[in-house]
Amino acid sequence: MQSARRMVSVLGSTGSIGVNTLDVIARHSDRFAVYGLAANSSVAALLAQCLAFRPRYAVMMDEAAAESLRRQLPSDSGTEILQGEAGLAQIVTAAEVDTVMAAIVGAAGLPSALAAAGAGKTVLLANKESLVMGGHLLMQAVRESGARLLPIDSEHNAIFQCMPVQAATCTSSLEGVSKVLLTASGGPFRAWTRARMDEATPEQACAHPNWSMGRKISVDSASLMNKGLELIEACWIFDLTPELIDVVVHPQSIIHSMVQYRDGSVLAQMGNPDMRTPIAYGLGWPDRLVSGVAPLDLIATARLDFEAPDEGRFPCLRLAREAFDAGGTAMAVCNAANEVAVAAFLDGQIRFTAIPLVIEQTLAQMPVLEPISLAVVESADTDARLVATEQVAALMQQGDRRMGLV
Ligand code: NAD
Ligand code: MG
Repeated sequence: MQSARRMVSVLGSTGSIGVNTLDVIARHSDRFAVYGLAANSSVAALLAQCLAFRPRYAVMMDEAAAESLRRQLPSDSGTEILQGEAGLAQIVTAAEVDTVMAAIVGAAGLPSALAAAGAGKTVLLANKESLVMGGHLLMQAVRESGARLLPIDSEHNAIFQCMPVQAATCTSSLEGVSKVLLTASGGPFRAWTRARMDEATPEQACAHPNWSMGRKISVDSASLMNKGLELIEACWIFDLTPELIDVVVHPQSIIHSMVQYRDGSVLAQMGNPDMRTPIAYGLGWPDRLVSGVAPLDLIATARLDFEAPDEGRFPCLRLAREAFDAGGTAMAVCNAANEVAVAAFLDGQIRFTAIPLVIEQTLAQMPVLEPISLAVVESADTDARLVATEQVAALMQQGDRRMGLV
């Protein structure tokens, strides 16, 4: 029945999560219709999605890209092209919209995630950076508006599946829970020496052994900052403290995280490493939808290994924990410094092992403020980017001197 279909807006629709979300939606055209799609500047990809999904609106953040899409879209497509933050706000807060997939990468995703939460939508949250930066604001908006937040990050989705959940409100409860076991693949450099990591290239860092993802999160996975961000994310979503979370390296990425109970039970959520499983769970909740993911073959998997994370070789995990403990805007600063450092590494400006140096120096130089408003959080983000950029420049100069270039 057409009218019973849920209207979904997908933010970051041309990215890895966005494309997987549309793949699941396409399998359930009886349940879901696309209201809005949004991307930064990928005209060709968004054009193809508009033709396939016929959304009411498509938003391009980049003005020239919006113009180009407008020119290329057939006049009878039924899709109106919007541009920038105002367009994003329109497809997030419109009364017809029921569900928002927040899958923009990085700090840029915070205002739209916050707007979706404030408007009382069902928020499928992939954009972990928004919780790391503005967890206090985002969770407050969810509570005040009665929005429903469903975690899409595979670990948090797994924890959500293994936690006691109050079905009426879709909030998890910690009744009987003694620990959360957050699994990490260990990334492509899990067994590398520090000296080898010094020479790691962006291509090596982005070659994740189990998951196919965007470049920024791939580098985060290689440095274990992804696990640090996820630790903070778990604290906000499930109202935990870092002491209640153990990070467990599990190289096969079959168990996506676990919840341990006081009676000794440990519940794990397992499956092939394919983001369509958590996406389908978020879209269908509380129903289980076909997702296109192949069934798990445990015999072929044969073994599941576990080890402790090595915080000596991977200091980003410690830095994220320290930022959470420092509280306030320290988490936004940590996130911003990481984004600057990752971009500089991907750009060939700094070494992989310099990423934690930039973050540590930036955290040390920035004040910690109360994150009372989006403006305070955004200004901490802006200031931290300036400091981190100076750190990158200093490291580049040192590197040049080492190589005898100046
Ligand atoms: P990606 O780089 O593949 O895609 C990013 C998307 O965001 C693109 O559609 C891009 O056009 C859009 N975008 C970029 N900058 C924008 C801006 N300023 N304004 C509006 N849109 C913008 O990234 P991804 O791997 O899909 O990750 C998206 C988010 O989901 C990240 O926060 C990531 O941490 C999280 N996540 C991803 C995975 C995964 O498997 N890829 C898993 C868990 C969580
Ligand atoms: Mg994850």
